[in-house]
Amino acid sequence: MENKNFKKPPVVVVMGHVDAGKTSILDYIRRTKVAEKEAGGITQHIGAYQIDYKGNKITFLDTPGHEAFNAMRSRGAKVADIAVLVVGADEGVKPQTKEAIEIIKKEGLPMIVAINKIDKPGADIEKVKSDLAQHGVLLEGYGGDVSFAATSAKTGHGIDELLELIILAYELSPVNVSLEGELEGVIIEATKDSKKGNVATVLIRNGVLRIGDIIGTKSAYAKVKMMEDFTGMKVKEVLPGMPVLIFGFKNLPVVGDKVKRFNSQQEAESYIKKKERKEKEINVLPNHEGKKVINIVLKADVEGSLDALEYVLKGIKDEEVLLRIIKKGVGEATDKDAKIADAGNAIIFAFRTKISKPALNLIDAKKIKVYTADVIYDFVEVARKMIDDIKKPKEQRIDLGKLKVLVVFMTKKQRQIIGCRVLDGEVRKGVRLEILRDGEVIGEGKLISLEKNKQDIGQAKKGDEVGILYEGNVKIEVGDEINVYYIEK
Ligand code: GDP
Repeated sequence: MENKNFKKPPVVVVMGHVDAGKTSILDYIRRTKVAEKEAGGITQHIGAYQIDYKGNKITFLDTPGHEAFNAMRSRGAKVADIAVLVVGADEGVKPQTKEAIEIIKKEGLPMIVAINKIDKPGADIEKVKSDLAQHGVLLEGYGGDVSFAATSAKTGHGIDELLELIILAYELSPVNVSLEGELEGVIIEATKDSKKGNVATVLIRNGVLRIGDIIGTKSAYAKVKMMEDFTGMKVKEVLPGMPVLIFGFKNLPVVGDKVKRFNSQQEAESYIKKKERKEKEINVLPNHEGKKVINIVLKADVEGSLDALEYVLKGIKDEEVLLRIIKKGVGEATDKDAKIADAGNAIIFAFRTKISKPALNLIDAKKIKVYTADVIYDFVEVARKMIDDIKKPKEQRIDLGKLKVLVVFMTKKQRQIIGCRVLDGEVRKGVRLEILRDGEVIGEGKLISLEKNKQDIGQAKKGDEVGILYEGNVKIEVGDEINVYYIEK
């Protein structure tokens, strides 16, 4: 294959604060820029798509939200060539905008800003510009050279301009690849499908991938049986920059893992074995002595969300408490997951996925904690709350014994001196008292001093007759019973 004529299309990642319009922009571009004949098939969500704009191919990663992108980065995968930072013209810079800016800078990616929602009445482009400047992003015409487009994913305004800026930015820093060179790719998404089996979206960065090739990551491999692009069309050959759905994985690969080519299945298998050993050693928990541990079983709809969630949870650091993922997987939470959670005293986090009927029964019976949500940050909140709860000193009531009131010697405001018999257990100086009349709790107080045979004592046992000085919120009468307890922290 001729190398000279091939220009790898840029791979674009879209980042920004939640609700800034990332999905809407990606949807608008997909809807309007995928050539009619291509869209003849049913476009499918495979984690990335490619358009042809005025003869220029551009690939978009369409798992917006930088969590997924972060998960890929954390595995050292080079995924994107250009980043589009979406900022709502009605909102300006928000917390996740700042995070996105940091990631883009760290990655050293060329950045283009889309000031979105300019159709909205509250849109204020100038405010966004000054907001961004405050965070070190200087736009063109505002003292810097970061290009930007004012867009509306609703009307389509500025979207062409955005695409042109992407093409321009890529012309300035194109990525050179070799079609004859070694195969390099990355897993963008992975799903277990009841009909299709284990399928994964791969984005090739170098070399050419063909049907029949044996490819793999450090944990999964495939003899490539079939490949489909995002329009559902079968493809026989995949060039760099083109996302493709690959059928034939023996087990589910991990999102963000690098993909390489092997000469044989044996070679792929032995590579995985070697890596497995290595991973196991690395995965051994660092010494967590002295830390309290919260065990978690993670389930998610697809590998991409699972990775993103794991990445985010691992980012929650606490000096006293450690979050430990004891099991993770794709698909609904099953009774097997529930058993593991039960054995490990773990909470189940189910992200965009269901809980099977048998699992629900077990969860009910064993009182396993489960949390389901569609938004990653809900889990973060739950995890943070669990950490806070675990750190709070716990109060526990310890029951000591029971008294029967035989005589009331003296009553003065909230204090009384009474004579009792210890019916059960014991009584000690300083304990708390719960007053019962006809079997019902009517008030409470505390025991200030304890006497037996007119002598101050520290404690008395079942059968003893004692005098006590009581202080509390009800008047005790002869015949009342008193529960004796204390609170332990
Ligand atoms: P994401 O969280 O960044 O992916 O944001 P979405 O694409 O889901 O958009 C959040 C909300 O803003 C949705 O209700 C969209 O319909 C709306 N929205 C997105 N872009 C625009 C826009 O340009 N104009 C207007 N008026 N609404 C928009």
